Amino acid sequence: MSENAAKAANPVVAIIGFGTAGVNAAIALRRAGFAGVVRVFSDIDTLPYSPILTSYYAGGEKTLEECFPWSAEQLAELDLDFVQEGPVERLDVEGHKVYTREGGYPYDKCVIATGATPMCYGFPQVEGDGGYEPLVMRTLENAERLKSVLEDESCERVLVSGASMVALKTLEACLNRGKRVTLVGMNPHVLDFNAVPQAAERFERGLEGYGVELRLGMTVKAVKRIPREGGLRDWQLEVTFSNGDVDCFDEISVSHGMKSNLDFIEADTLEIDRALVVDDYMRTSNPDVYAAGDVAQGLELISGQKRIVGIWKNAAVQGAVAGTAIAAELAGGEPSPDQAHPGAFGMNTIAVKDMLFISAGTMEVTPERTMEVRENDEMLVIYIFEGDAYSEGTGGSKRRLVGFNLVSEHDEAGSRAYDTGAMLTLRIEAGCK
Ligand SMILES: Cc1cc2nc3c(=O)[nH]c(=O)nc-3n(C[C@H](O)[C@H](O)[C@H](O)COP(=O)(O)OP(=O)(O)OC[C@H]3O[C@@H](n4cnc5c(N)ncnc54)[C@H](O)[C@@H]3O)c2cc1C
Repeated sequence: MSENAAKAANPVVAIIGFGTAGVNAAIALRRAGFAGVVRVFSDIDTLPYSPILTSYYAGGEKTLEECFPWSAEQLAELDLDFVQEGPVERLDVEGHKVYTREGGYPYDKCVIATGATPMCYGFPQVEGDGGYEPLVMRTLENAERLKSVLEDESCERVLVSGASMVALKTLEACLNRGKRVTLVGMNPHVLDFNAVPQAAERFERGLEGYGVELRLGMTVKAVKRIPREGGLRDWQLEVTFSNGDVDCFDEISVSHGMKSNLDFIEADTLEIDRALVVDDYMRTSNPDVYAAGDVAQGLELISGQKRIVGIWKNAAVQGAVAGTAIAAELAGGEPSPDQAHPGAFGMNTIAVKDMLFISAGTMEVTPERTMEVRENDEMLVIYIFEGDAYSEGTGGSKRRLVGFNLVSEHDEAGSRAYDTGAMLTLRIEAGCK
């Protein structure tokens, strides 16, 4: 049998990265009846875990076992061929080969699902003897380090740099472990691009109520590790803020954004903007390479543009779309339009102690959009609408909801706040159809 005939008889799909996007690609391939080799390149030696749960694990709200959404038995049913030789180092798009430190593995189709890495953009190098690497949050290793820091009684004060959702989740873990927390953020409000100022302010009042010191509208200019006299440890971190203030902390966590893990892709082999640009079936600019999850830039429904929508559900759906499309193509057909990625929009829920924040869609108020605020003791809801409220002759509303913020001081499962958040998210989704 010629090499090509052998390939066609037993095609190989390579999946690089085994988080939710990678796992869902594998599940979809098998569900669609793909019986060839599914070779998974994973740089972790645990079961796939959820990055969402890592901060809850560090903060003592979840056990380690709860961080793994799939059991070994469930994954064994997928009959996967695992390659655990460290991170993939190179993808030869032309030659159809995935390279680890041990060598090259051929593929017919490849799914890139390598997620993202937390960045410390703009954070200064720590000076002083002994050095110090700030804490970051994404992987289980990151969570183990945060957990041990938070369990260490000698750590009393933590500085959280950044005001994004990930920063706030880290902050929550610190509060749950009884630490004194200061948050420093370059913007005037927390929650960065997820909240309009009025919603962020109510959330900030709640944080302050829990004893969080907020240093907004400033950055960390310098950090020095210095000796400490008295206290449980013999060193501390002296921080100079951009407004000239100086204060000391035991640990620092930095959440200054994420960067898609694409270092193993050679320049000009695939179209990369902020991440891999994909079509409705998760195909990159090369027909045999797909991308899903935090490495993919697919359709964002509110803007109509291709953007990274870095949330769990989107990664799972994109992985499934890629797996289904590959199975169809390797069976000699084409995926059907109803198997295409429907597009996505951002949505977030975060609770710090009892302070709840839910958002979905866009918070950008453009000339075509209007903002409406409804506030009472129970919750604050801010709606962003697009289009006219009433159109002459139609007698009805032509506007559609494109985003909302909800803040409440009562984080209770099944509460009116959660119901409202779910209902408004569905309304945005319906408006996108
Ligand atoms: C602290 C935190 C809280 C979050 N909270 C929420 C939330 O509340 N709601 C929500 O929807 N989303 C949340 N997210 C985002 C969500 O976790 C991600 O969008 C989602 O996990 C992306 O899935 P993925 O499969 O693309 O990436 P990942 O889950 O990161 O999986 C990628 C995998 O690829 C591996 N990998 C990387 N490089 C290589 C390589 N070169 N070779 C082989 N393997 C490699 C990685 O080790 C990893 O195992 C949160 C993220 C963080 C960090």
